[in-house]
Amino acid sequence: MKARQVDVVIVGGGMVGLALACALKETGLAVVVLERAEAAPRLSLGRDCRVSAIVAGTVQMLRGIGVWEYIGRHAQPIAGMRIFDGQRFGSIRFEAEEAAMEELGFLVENSVLSAAMMQVVHDSEHIEWCCPASVDSVVWKASHVEVVLDDGRVLHTPLVVGADGGNSWLRSQAGIQVWSHRFMQRGIVATVKPQFGHRGVAYQRFLSTGPLAMLPMTDGLCSIVWSADDAEADRLMALDDATFLAELQLAFGPQLGLIQEVGERAAFPLRSQLAKHMVRPRLALIGDAAHQVHPLAGLGVNLGIRDAMSLAQEISDAKRFREDYGSMDVLSRMRNNRMPDVLAVMGGMEGFHHLFTSDLPGVAALRDAGMRIVGNAGALKHLLMRRATGLSLNLPKQIS
Ligand SMILES: Cc1cc2nc3c(=O)[nH]c(=O)nc-3n(C[C@H](O)[C@H](O)[C@H](O)COP(=O)(O)OP(=O)(O)OC[C@H]3O[C@@H](n4cnc5c(N)ncnc54)[C@H](O)[C@@H]3O)c2cc1C
Repeated sequence: MKARQVDVVIVGGGMVGLALACALKETGLAVVVLERAEAAPRLSLGRDCRVSAIVAGTVQMLRGIGVWEYIGRHAQPIAGMRIFDGQRFGSIRFEAEEAAMEELGFLVENSVLSAAMMQVVHDSEHIEWCCPASVDSVVWKASHVEVVLDDGRVLHTPLVVGADGGNSWLRSQAGIQVWSHRFMQRGIVATVKPQFGHRGVAYQRFLSTGPLAMLPMTDGLCSIVWSADDAEADRLMALDDATFLAELQLAFGPQLGLIQEVGERAAFPLRSQLAKHMVRPRLALIGDAAHQVHPLAGLGVNLGIRDAMSLAQEISDAKRFREDYGSMDVLSRMRNNRMPDVLAVMGGMEGFHHLFTSDLPGVAALRDAGMRIVGNAGALKHLLMRRATGLSLNLPKQIS
């Protein structure tokens, strides 16, 4: 079959691959997104049980690429956060107004975010959405990549992007190894209905078995992410709803009154993973294909969207200056821009995980002291909030 020339091929149409396509829409480049299967949401009390806390810096980016306007009222503003040390009595609170912000971010169902991005993709004449589509083979040449689809179509492109998730097929085709650490934990997710209104507060309780997050959704509902060791997660998943609710109540505490209802539960294995190379000539990995972090701070997709924005900016600049955006000169600029952020978040999540799951007396005292210091030091707290919401990062808010 005759090969077709396109400008960028994105393998994987999850939230990160779609974000890159949306960010490239104003560049006029012909972008093809290959997605093997559209994900159907797993419903829990009628809501997608997969949700994302989208921090304020990412919201600015999604506004800049035209996605946020399609999310609108489906997002729940996060006005504050409460972090509790479940083994001791330490706690810390963050309020958006302390950092002169309207909100720290928003809680959005993944299916809502993907649908908003799909709307932008459909509105653009330069983006082609191919689904279901799988890649049969990729051949790396000096001047281009030959991408052969399983239906026999052949695409030639200066750049192929792997946004195909933690088990990236493209990454292994390129022979890129990963550093991987499985926490031997799973994250149990579900929608719950508490008795009292959450007032936009996100709760994170660090238990000795792992963190339990209670995240505010629209209509007074909450989404839980309960991380627990594999055996404990199996046990919790096997409980009937009433017993699960009773255990959840005990683990979470009385802050929101009685937790009255729980929907369908799902469990996801948790790992931390980093690709040994984020870029190669004519290849860039973004999102979970490049790095995976523990969901305790809810930053995985935020990191991926930052990758997408950084890559889109480099592609756009290179096009303007007639540079080859598949070259290592251009791609290594994106990698150098992204690695400090990725490593800081990965290191921070590992540190948090170990700090809060340890019951050694010295470590517990360190936790208490750390929480007290951060809680009482306004400037430090302010700095942490700006960093955690991605507002202090030097990343583009829109691409033209
Ligand atoms: C329990 C849990 C809670 C989380 N909560 C948060 C949170 O609150 N905030 C946050 O920022 N992050 C959170 N995360 C992390 C976040 O979900 C991921 O970082 C994010 O989904 C990664 O998006 P992605 O597009 O890179 O990968 P994926 O979502 O894995 O998408 C990859 C896509 O590629 C497709 N694909 C795969 N292989 C191929 C192929 N060969 N050909 C074509 N297509 C292919 C797949 O079908 C899929 O659509 C959480 C994760 C977990 C497990």
